[in-house]
Amino acid sequence: MITVIAIDALEYTLVEEFNMRNLKQDYYGRTDISEFSEPRTMVLWSSFMTGENREAEILAKGDKEMWNTRIPHEETFFSHFKNPFVLDLPGYNYDLEQHRRERELLKEFFEEKDEERKREVRRKYNENAFAHHRRVKERFFEALEGDYDFVLGYFSVADVIGHLNFGNRSLMKMIYRDLDDIVSRVEGKKIVLSDHGMKAVGAFGDHSDYGFWSTNFRDLGRPRITDFKRIVLQEALGE
Ligand SMILES: [Zn+2]
Repeated sequence: MITVIAIDALEYTLVEEFNMRNLKQDYYGRTDISEFSEPRTMVLWSSFMTGENREAEILAKGDKEMWNTRIPHEETFFSHFKNPFVLDLPGYNYDLEQHRRERELLKEFFEEKDEERKREVRRKYNENAFAHHRRVKERFFEALEGDYDFVLGYFSVADVIGHLNFGNRSLMKMIYRDLDDIVSRVEGKKIVLSDHGMKAVGAFGDHSDYGFWSTNFRDLGRPRITDFKRIVLQEALGE
């Protein structure tokens, strides 16, 4: 049994700065995503689950349609397990309606000119993201009690909140603490993995061009995101 805690936009330098011991586990580092032209969420998670660079195929769908990507189970390494549980992963079984709502509020925020109304849109945007996060957390902890041979929980909160609030250090620290606590409650072999990190752009956040990994079983060096198929199958199934 192995658990992957997949965290969108978990930033290596913030994990260090906040010294989040559970996120760091015993071994941690950055991933190498330099083979991709840009650090795009859908491209990176699709490449992770298939163990292949899927950038060309995902980009060909266009900016809007790419979010509807559903990679068939048989094309993912999850299919090597008898009874896997994958929670809310982009490109596989992500909650599309939740994502649509996030993008809509984000658009509304950047189009709004009135400062007070802008703050109100951001409040709604944050509230929506936190509500989703609470639901995902609940389902993740339920899954950990279930009879699965592989569990992956995907957490979008650091990415979604980070885009509009990355300059708000206390809010970001609260989120990292919460993610750190989630990892501490997982038993057995575990991998923490992000697709990319996040860097400040004024008060906002944009994707940084490396990801984060950590394990409680071995040093992975500077892996590519496509290496995790092999790493997980080797650790979990001896393949
Ligand atoms: Zn992402």
